[in-house]
Amino acid sequence: MALEGLHHITAITADAPRNVDFYARLLGLRLVKKTVNFDQPDVYHLYYGDETGTPGSILTFFEFPSAAPGQTGDGEVHAIQWRVASGDAIAFWHHRLGEAGIATERDDRYLSFADPEGLTHELVVVDVADAPLVAQAPDVPAEHALLGFEGVRAYASAPSGSARLLERLGLQPAEPDGVWVAKGAERHAHLRYDAPPGPRGRQGAGSVHHIAWSVADDAELEAFREHAIEGGARPTPIIDRQYFHSVYFREPSGVLFELASRDIGFAYDEPQAELGRSLKLPPQYERNRAELEERLVTLPDPRAGA
Ligand code: ZN
Repeated sequence: MALEGLHHITAITADAPRNVDFYARLLGLRLVKKTVNFDQPDVYHLYYGDETGTPGSILTFFEFPSAAPGQTGDGEVHAIQWRVASGDAIAFWHHRLGEAGIATERDDRYLSFADPEGLTHELVVVDVADAPLVAQAPDVPAEHALLGFEGVRAYASAPSGSARLLERLGLQPAEPDGVWVAKGAERHAHLRYDAPPGPRGRQGAGSVHHIAWSVADDAELEAFREHAIEGGARPTPIIDRQYFHSVYFREPSGVLFELASRDIGFAYDEPQAELGRSLKLPPQYERNRAELEERLVTLPDPRAGA
């Protein structure tokens, strides 16, 4: 039993329509679920991913329309790393993002850029056995598409404080110092701690809210929950998130961890072909649908022409 890399990463946006345009049109991910924040149903929770929303490719956003811009600092994820296939893919994204007015930094095997709210992404060329997780976008050739997460980078002033918990969760130290890898049978992902540029950050628009590691099912959730307790964390009970079940706890360096199960998925409440097209609500909010649809801002349909 091992964590199968990352399940999803959740960040914050203050501008849901622009967020859809950036991730589903410009980056070519598929909007695989349009739902609400289960703890605050008058705002969106948007899920992007590969064609079916496979764990390892899922980037989600809570919409907080009035959120001030976040400030990354100690204890926070400051960059999301995605795999791409080749230096040609790096060149493709350098060109495509540049045309869209997005500043990039690059070398042959690496490209970094920020979304309109300042959330940093890095595209990296790595040779891995993990299956590529690709969405079909009309103007992003499959050979250049994002292939799922390579990992995340977080700021930590004393990352050794996280070691005991990470070890209990089965992550392994890797090179260079401060890098950990969750190595599953099928997928793996890296967590890299970097020295923070300053004091504690402030979460807001463009901040990563939490990262979720991938577990099989409730039995594994229970087992890893116990490992988390042994590692000194204080996990929540198992929570039903409709498309997966979850446990949350904060790791000592400050990053909010989630463990999320792979056994449910996004086809739970709409067919694969229709993923992300209509607003899906959990049963407890279905009776408020008319009111919620009225209050939520209208989003572009990234596959309107498909
Ligand atoms: Zn989550």
